[in-house]
Amino acid sequence: MGRICLFPIAIVAVVLLSSWGFHAHKLINRMAVFTLPTDVSRFYKNHVDYITEHAVDADKRCYVDTAESPRHFIDADEYGAHPFDSIPIHWTAAVEKFSERRLLARGVLPWQINRSYYALVRAFSELDFHRLLRHSADIGHYLADAHVPLHTTSNYNGQQTNQIGIHAFWESRLPELFSEGYDFFVGRARYIESPVDEAWRIVQESHALVDSVLALEAALSNRFPADRKYGYITRNNVLIRTYSDDYSRAYHEALSGMVERRMRGAIHAIGSFWYSAWVDAGQPDIRHLPPESPTPGTVPAPAADQKPLGREEWH
Ligand SMILES: [Zn+2]
Repeated sequence: MGRICLFPIAIVAVVLLSSWGFHAHKLINRMAVFTLPTDVSRFYKNHVDYITEHAVDADKRCYVDTAESPRHFIDADEYGAHPFDSIPIHWTAAVEKFSERRLLARGVLPWQINRSYYALVRAFSELDFHRLLRHSADIGHYLADAHVPLHTTSNYNGQQTNQIGIHAFWESRLPELFSEGYDFFVGRARYIESPVDEAWRIVQESHALVDSVLALEAALSNRFPADRKYGYITRNNVLIRTYSDDYSRAYHEALSGMVERRMRGAIHAIGSFWYSAWVDAGQPDIRHLPPESPTPGTVPAPAADQKPLGREEWH
């Protein structure tokens, strides 16, 4: 989750608290590879392990880069009762209306998706192997975050409603327990006409689910025996108190497939953004790019490829 950067917590807790959980992020990026048409799928299949492993780089960057955190969320409710009527979808207009400082404080997730998209288009145009892989993995991460309702509200961990812990519960514990039974055949990637509109559409859809995510857990908590709500699991040899299996199952049922639907949506969106970036780059021939994924020693330092993006790429 975006706010991991704000929590002074140990690594073991981070594994549980990070967005969608490392498990779900990796699974989502991996499954997205199988939505692609043949022209692009061979490249992504060659590097499916890389794309999977690096699905969580964006969260890891939070520890070393304070600019990273706001890219993972947007507190839409901070913009009033009808936030999506009030926030300009384009970055420049939004900065003019609210100031960059305020936008950053409330999170910039949808603009970041658009920004990563244009970085990916450029990587395709220039056939820049390393940046292609890096931006593909990253945009997968941001799109997955955008599908999580609690990434779109200031009450992101239920802290305003006495539901602390619900963030990791919904996006980490539930997928870890139940994603094995999900259907991840989501159909073919499609061409996205307007990446910025699509990013906002996804965020808006997530935001509309915030009330259900919170209300269903609150109702369950009221009727569930308190002494059976929590249990203990072992992670990396550390005993952690978390929601019990029974409580998790009951919440999962109350959500009627919501977690599965959001994961499926994320997978389809990621494949579609990758595919569209390739189309927008002029459908370059990527068959000759190296079939072996880079290993840690062979990847250029990010500083070398982080030329500032043009203004239009924040749009
Ligand atoms: Zn994240």
